[in-house]
Amino acid sequence: MSITVAKSAGFCFGVNRAINIVNSLLDKNVKVSTLGPIIHNMEVVNELESRGCKAVDNIDEVEKDATLVIRSHGVPKYVIDKLDENGVKYKDATCPFVKKIHNIVANPDNKDGIVLIAGNSVHPEVEGIIGHCSTECHTFKNSEEIDEIYNNILKKNNKQVFVVAQTTFDTKEWKKCVKKIKKLCTNAKIFDTICNATSVRQTEADLLAAQSDFMVVIGDRHSSNTGKLFDICKRQCDNTVLIETADELDALQVSVAEKIGVTAGASTPARIIKEVLDTMSEIKSGVTNGEESFEALLEESLKNLNTNERVMGT
Ligand code: SF4
Repeated sequence: MSITVAKSAGFCFGVNRAINIVNSLLDKNVKVSTLGPIIHNMEVVNELESRGCKAVDNIDEVEKDATLVIRSHGVPKYVIDKLDENGVKYKDATCPFVKKIHNIVANPDNKDGIVLIAGNSVHPEVEGIIGHCSTECHTFKNSEEIDEIYNNILKKNNKQVFVVAQTTFDTKEWKKCVKKIKKLCTNAKIFDTICNATSVRQTEADLLAAQSDFMVVIGDRHSSNTGKLFDICKRQCDNTVLIETADELDALQVSVAEKIGVTAGASTPARIIKEVLDTMSEIKSGVTNGEESFEALLEESLKNLNTNERVMGT
């Protein structure tokens, strides 16, 4: 029996940086608001809220004496403009890798070109990228959607095409998309903007899932990168589950597995990963919380078998 944890599991540089910015403001007793939850992890969001950090949906909701923190996903340019116009104090925690994409789409070397963005159009990061485009732009989620854009738009003109990707886009799908774009648009300028942390995390998850008979992906169900990790692992290991906390672990699945692989999304705190590992270890040693017998746990998990549904998020 073995439990292998992916080295890349947990907070990435950009998420860590955003949380540190919030925490350092709170440490100085600054009233903090964030535009939407700072990360897709309710435990972390609730913890920051208990320290006085308030997530708002709209910049009009920011109190006069508060500092707004822009999260690592970034925001459209009009939001920054509105903050400046309204004199709202803010700290920009947009991840530098996302900022790099904003710069590419804001300053293409042909202002009459068309920007194509690989990603989910309703994800905040992609909404932010769209909001920095200085020229016509379109999004696609897979290589099939490129055909639609080509047939409906690109074929009818010979405009320069610029291509970028959401930082957490699936690396395998990206390769397929690049191949197709190169074939259809010989004038395309392609920028691989998938962040290295994402590529490493996805590659590692892919390899680990291929060697495991039970794969556990830990992260919030609203987290895009966690969802993609789940999809990647599921392709390799049918017995893959997505859980948010240790409480969701199925004791039966853990107890019968021989090779368990564990990975976690970029917004999953190390504390939650450790709790999951501790719970697995307790299950494997036949004791949970020092009180409940392993048999009782098994009986309970049999009742709950097959209730590990994945709720799709962005
Ligand atoms: Fe930045 Fe990459 Fe983390 Fe996104 S996944 S916040 S781009 S480090």
